Parts: sequence; structure tokens; C-alpha cells
Amino acid sequence: MTDPTTAATLLAHDDLAAFDLGAGGPVVPPIFQTSLFTFESVAAMEAVFAGERRQAIYSRGDNPTVMAFEAKLAALEGTAAARGFASGMAAISSTVLAFLEAGDRMVAVRHCYPDAYRLFRRLLPRLGITVEFVDGRDLDAVARAVEGAKLLYLESPTSVVFETHDVAAQAALARAAGAVSVIDNSWATPLFQQPHKSGVDLVLHSASKYISGHSDTVAGVVCGARAHLDRINRLTYPFLGGKLAPFEAFLLLRGLRTLELRLKRQEASALQVARWLRERPEVAKVNHPGLGNRQGLAGTSSLFSIELAENVDVTRFCDTLRLFRLGVSWGGHESLVFPAAVGLRQAGEHNSLVDFGVSPRLVRLHVGLEDPAELIADLAEGLGAAGQ
Ligand SMILES: *Cc1c(COP(=O)(O)O)cnc(C)c1O
Repeated sequence: MTDPTTAATLLAHDDLAAFDLGAGGPVVPPIFQTSLFTFESVAAMEAVFAGERRQAIYSRGDNPTVMAFEAKLAALEGTAAARGFASGMAAISSTVLAFLEAGDRMVAVRHCYPDAYRLFRRLLPRLGITVEFVDGRDLDAVARAVEGAKLLYLESPTSVVFETHDVAAQAALARAAGAVSVIDNSWATPLFQQPHKSGVDLVLHSASKYISGHSDTVAGVVCGARAHLDRINRLTYPFLGGKLAPFEAFLLLRGLRTLELRLKRQEASALQVARWLRERPEVAKVNHPGLGNRQGLAGTSSLFSIELAENVDVTRFCDTLRLFRLGVSWGGHESLVFPAAVGLRQAGEHNSLVDFGVSPRLVRLHVGLEDPAELIADLAEGLGAAGQ
């Protein structure tokens, strides 16, 4: 059998390598809904515990359904290994904590995911780790900041304002400084950006978004070289305990079947919507990588933001929309709207929207699988009501 090489074939191809199912087996991986796995003898048990043979022992470590998902993500990102997590944040925290210790400094790009920002500002300093934030577009600033740092944390396009960065150049700067590089690739997915092939060490995702695609699960994953994943497996993954559940892995494998179809449709719809919005007098700015600097992205997804003009009532606009529902998250079948003003007034310290001066006139839009003409009609009503 030839190994699948294109993303389309990989996504459709079965995931049964991790299972010994013989001929006549199913086309869908079974859900191994079990906490533990047994051994036929002490010798067999010893071989597995000694690391001579890999077999699932306990589902806080390995589980075959989860391993099928991990193998698929590693293949899609072009990495040797991957590890699933209970959430994108579990993947982020278990990754950075595996590479940092008291006295270390890390560098992160501004406008990284707001809860990643809170983790870096709230928890890491308590552990004696300092964090510096840089404008990821400014490679000179990145080069200066990464000097002497242990880890460079990237995201492109960024959250909220959707800035794009030269990821290959950032990764090269990290490598030259001896820092491990990590990127949040949730927005682009491996179909539109494969950062490991551009030199980024570790690529992580909130699998709750496009990878799931159906707004029915929260999950995460990190992909990278075997040595880097070994470090995570040795220092954080089993102890922080944020493991991916087998049922969630099943949902993710199911979601992945249609990733390419969904993303291409959503990308085309979002571009149509964004181009329409750009022509409207009520819209001052459209932050969409497909209308700006693509920085080598193979596709431009369906999450972007707009800034409404001074005379437009942001609340009225959001409240008038019917097809775009008010909600957080994104990447599913449904269109969503999130006004930055709500995030700016969110309780608690270390709010990246406040700290990086995001405009209260910014509104984030996620374009789902609905008919784009109907979505545009919905937006036209919202702008009409809000612009009076
Ligand atoms: C949602 C999100 C996360 C966090 O993922 P969870 O699965 O919610 O923990 C991380 N990064 C980005 C860009 C996100 O949008």
C-alpha cells in the first residue's frame, strides 16, 4: 500500500494502523472507552513498562482512539509525533511548562490568544518565569527580544486583529538564539499553513475549532519532533493530566473527514463577505489576511474582524444580526459575532485586548457553512439598523 501524501487522501484515509483488527475490520476506528488495558503475562507487562514495546497501559497516558487522532495530526503537520490534549489551553500550558523553568525568559507575539496571554502574565511569573511581548511583524524587535530567551511563542494570523507574520523568519531567529519555537496554528489548520516545514519546532492547535468543525467538543493537540514530544511526555502531559478523551478523539477524527471541504467553502464565503463589507461606508476597516498580507498562507479561513465607523452603533449592529449568533469560539458550522467591547470590559486583570489597545469598535466575525448571500443580507440589515 502506498502511504497517502495529499491532505485530501490523508483526511479520508482510515486510521486503523493503531489497531490490530485484521481483515474484515471496520472503516471507523472504535472508541476505546476504557480506563486501563491488561497484559497477558508479567513479562509482557515488564516489556511495556521498560519502554521496549508501546502498548496502552492507562488512558491518562495512551489510548488507541486518541493515538489514531495523534497519528493523523502528525501526518497532516508533517511532524514525527503528536499528543492530544483535553483543550487547546491544556496543549499550550503543557507545552510551555515543559520547556521553561524558574529564571527563564520567554517571548510571545502580541495579540496571541487571550487566555494564552493570561497564562503567560498570571501563572508563569509565579513560577519565576518572565515573559516579554513583541510585535511579531517587527523582525528586528523579535531578534532583540529572543536573544537569551528559552522559548518563542508565535501565532499567525494573530487572534482578534489577524496580523500575519513571517513565520519562517521568526523560527530562524529562535533557532539562532537557541530558543525552542512554538506556534498556535488553530486559525490556518495544517491545510493552509504547515509551520514545522518552515522551521517552527512545535505546532499546536485548539482542536475545538476547525479540526472539530461541529462546535461539539473542546480539545487540543501539539505536533513536533519526537525529542520535543518526549520532553512533554516526560515532564507535563502525564502529571498535569490534561489528556484527550477517546470519545472526543472519535469526534475529531470524524470532523477531520470534511476539514478540506468545510475550509474551502468557508474560505470562499468569508472572502465574499469580507469584500462586501469593505465597500460599506459603515465599515472603517476589515482585518482579513485574504484582503491584506497573506504571508504565504495557502488559504485564508473564515475568521476575521472589522472595525465599524464612528457613527455606527456596535451593540445595535450585533443585536440586529440573526444568522450571526453572539458567541465565543469559532471554527464550526455556524456563523458567529463577537464584539471586542464585551471583551474589553471583561472582568479581571491581564486582558490582552485592553493591554494592546484593541478598538471598542472592533467586531470579530466567524463565517460558517450557511449561504453567503443570506449572511450578507443579515449583515446588511445589521449595518442598516446600526448606521442610522
Ligand atoms: C480557542 C483558542 C485557543 C484555546 O483553545 P481551547 O480548546 O478553547 O482551550 C487557543 N488558541 C486560539 C487561537 C483559539 O482560538
